[in-house]
Formats: sequence, C-alpha cells, structure tokens
Amino acid sequence: MEVKGQSETPPHLCVCVCVISPHSTGLDPAALRDKLFELWNRKDLQTVRVTFTACVNSTHAILSACVYKVFIHTTPSSFFSSLPQLHLAALQGFSKLSEPLEVLLTIMESCPGKQKGRGHTLGHHILMEFQTWVKKNPQVTLSSLSEQQATALQQRALSLLTDTQPNFVDALINIYQLNSMDLDRLRLHILRLQALNYYKEAVVLSIKLKLQKELNMEEMCVPLIVQNKLPLAESFVAGHNHLEQRLVTLLDSWCHPCFNVDEIIRRFPRLSLSRQCMDQIQPKMLTKQVFRLMEKFNIDQGLCPNALHKRRLDSLRFLMYKRFVEKSMTEENWSDHVQYVVADDLELQIHLVEMLVKHCGLRKASQWSLRYNIPRDRLPYGVWETQRSLPPHLQQICLSDSPQSEEWMPPQSHCQKFYQVPLTRDKVHFVDTPEALQKCRNIVMKEDVVVGVDMEWQPTFGCISTQRVALIQLAVFDQVFLLDLCANGFCQHPDTISFIRSFFSSRNVLKLGYGMSGDLKCLLATWHQFLEEPLKMEGMLDLLSVHQMIQRGKVKVPQNGPKGVLVGVDSAEKGLSLLVQQVLGRPLDKTEQMSNWEKRPLRISQIRYAVADAYCLLDVYSTLSGDPARFGLPADLRSISSSQPEKSGEKKPKEKQAKQTNQARGEEECQGAQRVSPPSKGLLCGEKPSEDAPPLPPQQLRVVCDNMLQGLGRYLRCLGVDVVMLENNDDHRVAAKLAQAEGRVILTCGQPFQSLRSQVGEGRCLSLDCSEKARDQAVRVLRHFNVQPTPSDIFSRCQACNSDQYVAVPRKDMVRMLKQKGFLQEQDDTDYTQQEEEETPGVTPELPRYAPQCQWAPLSGLDPDTLTFPGGAPIQLHAVPPGLLPRIPLFYVCTRCGKVFWEGSHFGRVLSMFQEVLNIKDEDAESAAVPVTASQCN
Ligand SMILES: [Zn+2]
Repeated sequence: MEVKGQSETPPHLCVCVCVISPHSTGLDPAALRDKLFELWNRKDLQTVRVTFTACVNSTHAILSACVYKVFIHTTPSSFFSSLPQLHLAALQGFSKLSEPLEVLLTIMESCPGKQKGRGHTLGHHILMEFQTWVKKNPQVTLSSLSEQQATALQQRALSLLTDTQPNFVDALINIYQLNSMDLDRLRLHILRLQALNYYKEAVVLSIKLKLQKELNMEEMCVPLIVQNKLPLAESFVAGHNHLEQRLVTLLDSWCHPCFNVDEIIRRFPRLSLSRQCMDQIQPKMLTKQVFRLMEKFNIDQGLCPNALHKRRLDSLRFLMYKRFVEKSMTEENWSDHVQYVVADDLELQIHLVEMLVKHCGLRKASQWSLRYNIPRDRLPYGVWETQRSLPPHLQQICLSDSPQSEEWMPPQSHCQKFYQVPLTRDKVHFVDTPEALQKCRNIVMKEDVVVGVDMEWQPTFGCISTQRVALIQLAVFDQVFLLDLCANGFCQHPDTISFIRSFFSSRNVLKLGYGMSGDLKCLLATWHQFLEEPLKMEGMLDLLSVHQMIQRGKVKVPQNGPKGVLVGVDSAEKGLSLLVQQVLGRPLDKTEQMSNWEKRPLRISQIRYAVADAYCLLDVYSTLSGDPARFGLPADLRSISSSQPEKSGEKKPKEKQAKQTNQARGEEECQGAQRVSPPSKGLLCGEKPSEDAPPLPPQQLRVVCDNMLQGLGRYLRCLGVDVVMLENNDDHRVAAKLAQAEGRVILTCGQPFQSLRSQVGEGRCLSLDCSEKARDQAVRVLRHFNVQPTPSDIFSRCQACNSDQYVAVPRKDMVRMLKQKGFLQEQDDTDYTQQEEEETPGVTPELPRYAPQCQWAPLSGLDPDTLTFPGGAPIQLHAVPPGLLPRIPLFYVCTRCGKVFWEGSHFGRVLSMFQEVLNIKDEDAESAAVPVTASQCN
C-alpha cells in the first residue's frame, strides 16, 4: 500500500522556510503555514487510517488496497474530518497575522499543485478560507498598505495566475484587486503566458482582467483558432465591436483563394498544428464560420468579400449542377437564380461563362458574356470568336421577363397531369399593405375557419443561414392570400408581426401545414421578435404526421432478406406531392419549387404553384376527414399530431425550437418547398454530422448504394463500411425501402436523388457525381460522415456478401477439407504437413497479422460432413487453388456465403489508395511497411 507521499513531510517545506521573513509582531507566518500543511497532510493520514482498518477487516487485502486507492482519489476534501480543524486553524491563524495579505501569498507560493487547475489542492483550499475570512475582516485591504507594498503584492499575486480554475482566479483577482493594476504589468503577464504556450490561459485571464483592448487580437486569437478553440476566441472579442469585426475579417482573409496556411505557421512557429486543425483552416469551413459570426456579431457582409464570393461561387456551381447535370431546373428558374447570384461581380460573371463553356458549349457562353459585357481579355478561349459569329437575334439571351403574358389557366395537358386549384385568378389576393392585411385578417381569423398554410423562401444553395420567408400563402375554401414579405416595409410592420403572432396562436383557427418545423424555423429567422418573445403555436395540424401514419399502414414488414422489402406501391412522387396524389389522385406540379421567390413580380406559374401548395392542404384534409378509415386513420385527425410531437414539433416549447434553430444553423436545411442541398464539391446532400463529433468507425456507417455506384460500394465495403448494393435491375425505390427498414443512408447520383431524399428525410440521402472515380467518391463519403477507417478495417467485411463474420481456417484443416471433398488427392500431403508443425502449432488459429475488425466464429460451427455453415452456405472449396497451400498458412472463410479469402497483395494497394482518409497509427505504419498483404480470391 502506497502512503508514502502523504505521510512524509513534503519536500517544499524545507525550501520555503527561508523565504519567509519573520515579522516583528503577530503570529509567525511560517508557524501558520506549517500548521495548515500539517492538518492538510493529517487529513490524508486519517483517510489512510480509516481505510486501513477497513482493509484489516476485509478478507481480500488486495481488493481493499484498490478500494483505498479509489477512495483517496475520489473523495472530496470537504469530506475529511480534519478539514473543520483546518478551517478553524486557518481562520484563527489569519486573524493573528500582522500581514495576512502577504502571508497568504507566501503560503500560496509554496503550495504544491498550485499551477494546474485542480480544485482540491491545499492552495485552493487556503485561498477559499481566506476569502471567507476577509469578508468578515473588511479592514484587510490593499489600501491599508503603502503603494509600493501593494504593488509588490499585486505583482506576486499576478504571478500565481497561471490557472483558469474560475474560483481560484476570481478569488485572487478580488483579494488583490488585480483589475486596478498597471495595464503594462498585466499585459506583460499575459504575454509571458503566451510565451509559455499557455494560449488558452492567456485568453481566459485577459477576459477576466478585461484586457482585450490592450492586447493584439491576432496574437491572442490565432493560436486558439488553429487549435480548434474558436469559441474562446469569440469570447475574447465579444462585446468589443471593433475586435469582433477584426476577428471576422481576419477569418475572411483566410478565405481568399491565395491564402496559404503556411503564413500562420510562419507567424507562430511554436504552434504545432495537427492535421485536424489544419483541416479547419479550409475555405469551406472558414466560410461557414465567417457567415455564422457575421450573423452573431451583426457584421456587414461587405466586410467579408472573400467568404461572400466563395459562397456565391458555390451557389453558381450548384445551379450549374441542377440545370446541366441533374437537369432538374427549368431554364427560367435557372436564369433567374444565376442573375441573382452573379449580380455585378465581374469575377463571378467570368466564372459563369467558363462553366457554361464546359457544360453546354460556346454559344450559350458567348451569349452570357455579351450580356455581362465581359472584357475580351478575360474571355475563355473561343468565346470571343463565337460572339462575332452569332447572328444578331441570338446575341440576346431570351429572358422570360414577361410574367403577365402567361395564362392563369394552364394548358389542358397540365390539368390532366397535375392537381389544380379550383379558383380563378381574381380569388388570389396579394397582401402587401396594412390595409390589405386587415381584409385578410377578417377572413382567416374567423371562428372555426380552416386555413391551409404554406411559405416560400429563396433556395439556400447550401448557405448556412436559415432563410427568411419571402411569401406566406393562406388558403381558405374560396380564396387565397399571398402575404408578400418582400414588399417594402411590410415584413417588419408592427401590424404584420402582430397578425402572425395572433394567427399562429389562435386555437379557433385550424391551420393545416406539411412539414411545419421547417416553416417555423424560417418564421423565426424572419422575425427575431419571436425569439425574444416566443411565438405560441396553437391549433396546428401537420399533415406530414398524418401522411407518415398513412405510409406506415401501407408498408408491410418484409418476411426475409432485404430484397423482400419492396412491397410499397409508391410512385416517383414525394412529400406533399405524393400525399396529394394518394388522396386526390394527381400530384402537384413542382416545376417552380426551386424558383427565385424574392423576385418581383412573380411569374404566373410561380403564383399558381404557391397557391396550389397551400390550397391542396384544404382539399386533402377535407377528403381525409370525410373518410379517415379508408386511409387507416383515426376519426379525429387532430389527435394524430399530438401523438407524435417529435415529428410535428408543434407541441414543443418555442424556446426549445428557437434554440434548435440556432444550433442547427441551417446545416439542416429548412424542410419546406425548397429543399436545396449544398454543393460540397460533387457531393450533394442534406444534413451533415457535426464537425465536432468524434470520427466514426466504418462499421457504424450503414449505407445502401444505388446500382450506378457499385464501384463506390465495393470500395466502401472494402474499407469496412456496412454496404448493401442494389442489383442492376433493382428500382431506385428499393433503396428508400432499405434505408427506412434498416436505418441506412442512401448513396445515389443524378435524377433519383430528389425523390429518394424526400422519402428518407434530410441528411439520409447523398447524391454523388457519377463522373467521378469511385475511389474519389469513396473519399468524399468518408469525409462527409467523418469516418476514419484504420488499416485493420480493410477487408474486415466479406467483399461478396457484406458479412463481417469469418472463420479462420488453418492450412491443415483446409487440406483436410479439400481432401474430404475430393479437391485434393488423399496421398498428396507431404508438402503441407512439413511446414504445418513450425507455423501453425496450436488448434486455435492465429489471427491474421493485420487483424481485421471483424467477428470470428469458431470452426466448430461448420458442419463436419457437409462442410456448410449454420446459415446453409457451403464453404467454397473449389475456389482454393491447391498450388497456394504451401504459401498460405491461414484462410478466412465468410460464414454467410462461404467465400474463402487469404492474404495477398490487395491490402497494400487499398492502403495506399486510401492513405489520405485512413487513420494510420504508428504501429500500423510499421506493420504496413512489412509486406503484409491480404487478398481475396478471384
Ligand atoms: Zn460472404
């Protein structure tokens, strides 16, 4: 039992005696200190004694020793019985001192463990006692001393401030009034901490001492930012407008395309930057932070040109993808958005022309270059010549700027295909003045009225901030109101805000929505007033919850195997459109879904879309409540949402929602009409796991791979990811069923993405660029989910069937089985047995040297006669070339499909292919250096 450190006289005592100068009057400070030290030590001895008695009584001395250790390390010091004595001794002692402020410092300086923030050191304890004592002795202050003495004490107290333990720091600052010290001295102390690489401590103390304005923001904050402590840097600048601004513009300057991280390393040579930290200093991450901070500190976007440019460039890339790769956006919408994004930024205009050359050729590129008057020397090759050769009527881009020319009634073909609103144009009212709002209010706030509610907002194109609402549609049975929040002054008009509040909180108005949580987020982003004084939501029915209930009733549980899941009868429709189709027979026309909702005037087709989106809710509701049993619903539809508060969100307290909105920060995009995905370089998707989350092991990523991505699927599986692949003739909808049934994320590309995502929800479906190499796609997916495979994950799954369970079969067993099944001659055994003895001695097979992260089944599970596994798969002996036997001491056999694997050259190849995403520890690197290889047959 180790009690040495506690029972012996601490060595610091001997050192400190000479430091203390004897005072003429009062208690000898050294005596007090010794007394306190002794009591402090005695409390440990007492513990020892108590525990020792327990040990003796115990029959298991070793166990008791462990108990003792745990006890002494976990019991708070206040628990010990000698502490009251210490407390008393301290209080009495302090009173007897002639220079308590000085003696306290002397004691603190000689206390062990004062440096690093442990709350239960003697130093902390004494300091706390002193604070209690000084409250009752207010005459003990620095002002009773001479200025010189006071300064000297302050200086000594300051030197003790190397800790960030709040009690400790606050007590010292209070007792010695450190805030009143000479600024230069304080600053010097902070700089000293920095010089010792105590960056965090330096910042925390400078905040406590209110020194921010005296210090160089960059010197203080950059080390924190690159060490992943941006929040601390934010606290440092918070409340100081010019510092906030400088922090954000600093981050913005790092978003410049020419910025190089080496500049930071050059400036702070002592900082050691880990790879993870370096990854934070990427334009994508930084842009995100810059936008978040601009919002947080209310900083003008104009001050952050680099982040803004980056974001708009990303939006432009996304638009190109939607229009020319996915082909899911109309020319009108695309052109609206492009003009909005590019605006008058020459560099973006040039980017646009360059992208157009790549995506659709010189003619269109030259039309747009003419439109923006791009200087000849900035034009991509061939564009100038094409401009010259264009006939005059093609030199203008045909922009559909004639919204009123469209007919309200769509063509007959459209009516047959899509749901139509049974209202004429004159029943649709734009509301953009307080007077018009009053008329609207009189109708939608009538007692017991049912209102279909929908909202439109500008697509985010992957922007992080939650979007502001551009249009709110309120539909009653005979008319629809469109609240135009883009109209000048209307949105923030007090009447508008008060209307929104009373409308959403009115119990007597039944409000129908679909996926309302997204709408609510956008409401909060539009009116910050609702964050301060939460919006009370009453009388809401989210038809999404109703829809989910209908869908659950339709999907039968599959009998066996993943393929049986395909039993639903869903169409390609999704979301609200699917519900409308299921209930009313025709889907919604979603062509305008992703249009520019901030543009005015809106096109007729946009208005028609907006009206239909809200009005169809009324139609759906009246059909469902007319015959709920037909849809497998309870008689009272309003009871559905309350049984599923987590889906609708409407029963949650609003504060919580507001908080969630802040946390989500738009990573999770609004769930409304316009769900748009961020264009993260070839990977289009919804929600991304938090950057701060620890890396996932590949086994925890479960995906279903569309059949166009089989190469990707094979690579991911080879790295240990749980991958189900669709067969060539499988419908895409199989993916959705699998995703829902087994909690998998869908990996797909191109057209199916939109419909798949709507079926599985945000973040559960990723779209990849099909033109990319499978290996690069795999790296994207791993990065996106922050999955870090290790070398031992490679080949931890059967490449054929995705099972992660193997049986290790030593050579001699393999030989025996090959003979048993006639793949080897009975006599033909001399070659193998010889090596057998030296290489595989035991019955238990050696695990392979690279030790894959898989499960091992015992060989005894194999039926000795039929050589089949419990699941029925026979071991695939025919695939084992007898010529290999002398070289391979151990085989691995998949227990699900019976495939046989052995070490080969593939392992090294995979290792080098995925080096950049693999988490390779030193020992792995060593073993990888040895030509250890694993391979599958065939
Ligand atoms: Zn298998």
